[in-house]
This record gives sequence, structure tokens and C-alpha cells, in this order.
Amino acid sequence: MSLLDRIKSRSSVSGENVPASSVTASPAPFQSTRSEVRATAPEAVLRGLAPDGGLYVDPAISSGCFDVQGCLALSPLEQAEKILSHLLPGFGNMHALVQRAYDGRFASPELTPLVPVGDDYVLELFHGPTAAFKDVALCMLPQLMTAARTITGMRDKTVILTATSGDTGKAALEGFHDVPGTGIMVFFPYQGVSAVQEAQMLTQEGANVAVCAVKGNFDDCQTAVKQVFSRYADSAPIPGVRLSSANSINIGRLAPQVVYYFLAYASLIKQGRIRYGEAVDYVVPTGNFGDILAGWYAKQLGLPVGRLVCASNANRVLTDFLTTGVYDRRREFYKTSSPSMDILVSSNLERLLFYAADGDTAAVKNDMLRLQNSGYYKISAKALDFIQKDFSACCCSEAETLSEIRRCFGETGYLPDTHTAVALHAARAYRKTERSGAPVVVLSTASPFKFPAAVLTALGEVPEGDAFSQMAQLSRVSGLEAPVSLSGLQDKAYLHNDVIEKADIADYVLNTLGRL
Ligand SMILES: *Cc1c(COP(=O)(O)O)cnc(C)c1O
Repeated sequence: MSLLDRIKSRSSVSGENVPASSVTASPAPFQSTRSEVRATAPEAVLRGLAPDGGLYVDPAISSGCFDVQGCLALSPLEQAEKILSHLLPGFGNMHALVQRAYDGRFASPELTPLVPVGDDYVLELFHGPTAAFKDVALCMLPQLMTAARTITGMRDKTVILTATSGDTGKAALEGFHDVPGTGIMVFFPYQGVSAVQEAQMLTQEGANVAVCAVKGNFDDCQTAVKQVFSRYADSAPIPGVRLSSANSINIGRLAPQVVYYFLAYASLIKQGRIRYGEAVDYVVPTGNFGDILAGWYAKQLGLPVGRLVCASNANRVLTDFLTTGVYDRRREFYKTSSPSMDILVSSNLERLLFYAADGDTAAVKNDMLRLQNSGYYKISAKALDFIQKDFSACCCSEAETLSEIRRCFGETGYLPDTHTAVALHAARAYRKTERSGAPVVVLSTASPFKFPAAVLTALGEVPEGDAFSQMAQLSRVSGLEAPVSLSGLQDKAYLHNDVIEKADIADYVLNTLGRL
């Protein structure tokens, strides 16, 4: 049975006999990727992960009507409001939530400015309060959670557990600190994030925050956090507390990211580069597959997205998967200069697998169990075809990342960070092999000042002193200014010093919940 048939039959079972096109308006549009368990948008946002360990998806995402052209003509905040009301129905006054999330909090009124660089365009996603692209989503998520608590009548405190490879942690802390009714707990890999990222997290103020380093890599943190979620999916870990997630497994994290694909497209129209309807290719530095999946969602809403090029660093598990259909995490893990993409278990891929398998939750569940137990899975030829219709992939070695920074700065005067450099390298490789002729938008996920040592090295300089001296050094070398949210960290006191073994995450959670 096809996905659409299943949606139809579900409607007729409940006696409503509604046409498929109005299914998106059903009271519980979301379901798990691993079973038919359903949820409303506010429930899905509050829970984070579905009770069966799956991720929440809207099976009818591509069958609703969305006025793309009308949306593109609006202001950035109006576009956000329109897209989020469509993707997350049932939140009531999305206007107020969007205003509170973004108004006056980003350095640019465009939110995510589009900058011409050589023949391509760079979409700068890092002008939010923590200078991270994660801010786009994590300014919005606390607004959605707070509204969802009211809508569902939730009395318990919501405690957010977050595993971070660097940027999510700080952006989540910034979004959730001192938000009434919530607490926030962040786990990051000990010595596995940049000095600046570490300083950002360890200086976080707020009465409801906990920050903890874990002796392990990001995947260890994420796996442990997911296990804690599964254990307390239907029960309170301590009385009066419910757990939730701010990782991109939360649909309330993913949906706001769809917006910047529209903003880039609207900007290309405004700059006279394209007319409405022409395809635009996007090259996306991704690890957990959230950043790029948001682009695929934009395409399902009807945005004329051409190809989505998945850019990986030396941890090339996604490149291999997208070219062969075999996902295999049994490989060496590399610590690279683009640490936010040092990921071997790519959570959001599960959502794409659901659509590629035509909504076959048993197949998705099988693959996820196989990944957990055996370390790999292989999707069907049909599913791979479905995925390759929209996605290309390219990876970039450490040496290529650094030479890309040097080349880009030398040839264009634009200074990318290490993650953006991975994508710029992928964009050039993509141009050589698959010339579609469409404009190429390269997503830029971090300021170069966040990774000053690597960027200085790429430019042939010897980094001097601590991260803050290096920021100043990079300013001198490049003639650019460091964002104040980064350079100002120097004067802040370190407030957190917990370091634990990865086996102790669950205990740490239980012991810490009470004080948040
Ligand atoms: C999070 C992050 C990414 C990757 O985002 P995904 O959600 O893994 O797709 C890329 N670059 C930076 C700087 C990030 O913080």
C-alpha cells in the first residue's frame, strides 16, 4: 500500500472519509518513523523523540498546498511565520512566537544574509546571539516549547537534555536559560570541541542550567542521551519533571531551519539573479543531516530546490551512504578541524528513510535496530533511487579543508570557517561533475572567529597564545572584526567544571534534575 493510500485508509477507519489533501489539517498530523503512534505538533515538540524511539514526521508533508510564491514576497519574519504555521499547525499565534524569537536578536534584519562569493553565493547563518547557525532554530524552540506547555496543559517542568558537538549546546543554553517551567542540561565531548565553544558553554549563566563534559565523542554523548529518553519516554524520571530534546531530532528544531532556504531563494530573486520557478542548488555542510534535510522539506513545500549537495569532512559516512545505499558506522572516527560535523551516527537521516521507504515504519525500525546492533544497514534500490533523485554528496579531507580556506580568501577576499570551507570545496567538486547551470548557494554555518587556530593555520600563520589572542591575531591578518559575542567571552567567569565517564550520563541526569 502506498503512503497516500495508507493515509486515506486511516482517515476512513476513523470514519471521516476526508480527501488526502486535507489530511495535513488533521488534529494529529505527526507520527513516529518507527510505528503509527501519532502526535499533534505541540505534543511532538514537547516530547522531542517519539515514545518508540522514532522521530516525528508528517507523512503528508508534500501533499498540502503551500503558496510558495506568495511566501517569497514577504519579509523574513513573515516568511518564517508562514512556513512555521504550515509545518507546525496547532500553535495558534505563530506571529507572536516568531517576533519574540527573532525580532532584534540577529545582527542582520535579513536574519541570514546571502553574500556573492566568486560565482557562488554564501548564505551566512551565523548572525544570531551565539554566532552559531544553531541560533536560527534555537531562538525559536523555547518559544514553541513554552506555547506547547500551555496548549497541552503541561504542569510538569520540562528539562531539555542536549548532546552537542559544540554549537548546539551554547545556542540551547542561550535559548533556554531562565525560561520559566524549563531546565536545560548539556553534554559535550571532553576536549572534543573548540576552545571558544568550550568557553561559550562553561561561562553560561542561569539558575536552570547544567553543563557537563563527557569522556567520549559526540556519538557517545548522543547515544547515551537517547537511551535516557527511551527509558523515560512515558514516565517521569523524578516526580514533576519531563524530559525533552533540543537536538535536531526535535521537529521544533528542524522546522525553523526550512525558513532560510526560502530566504536565500527570495534574496536571489531580489538580486535579479533568478526568476521565480528557476531551480537553485544548495550545498550544505552537515553531520546529523538536519541542516540538509530542512532543504528537502523546503522542496516538499514546493520551493524550486534543484540538487541538495551533502558536504562531509573526513568522517564521510554520509557520502558513502548517499552513493551506495549502505550506511556503515563501523569505521575510524576522525577528530577534524570542522568538529560540528564529526559524526558517525546521523540522526535525521531516519526521517528521510521514512519517506524513501514510502512510510514503511517496520522497514525503518529494522534498519535502525540493525544500525544499533550490527553497526550498518543497507536500504533497497528503490529507496536509494528516491534519495538520489534529490541528493548528491561530496567529502573533503583535512588538507582540502585548509587549502580551500586559503584559496577562497586569496581569490575572493571572503574568509570562510572550516565547516563552510568543507561546503565550498564540495561546491567546486560538484560544479565539475554535475554542471546543472543553476545558481549555487553554499550554506555557511560558523564565523571564522570560532575556529581561529585552524583558520590561521590555513592562511599560513602560526597561531599564537590562547583562543582569544588567536581571535585578535585573525582580526589583524584578515582585516575583519570578531563577533562581540565571541571576543567578549574573555571577561566572563567559568561557572561549570563537571567531567564524567560516558557510562555515567544517566546517573548524572538523575542526580542533577532536582536542582534545575
Ligand atoms: C551543527 C553544525 C553543522 C551541521 O548541522 P547538522 O544539524 O548536523 O546538519 C555544521 N556546521 C556547524 C558550525 C554546526 O554547528
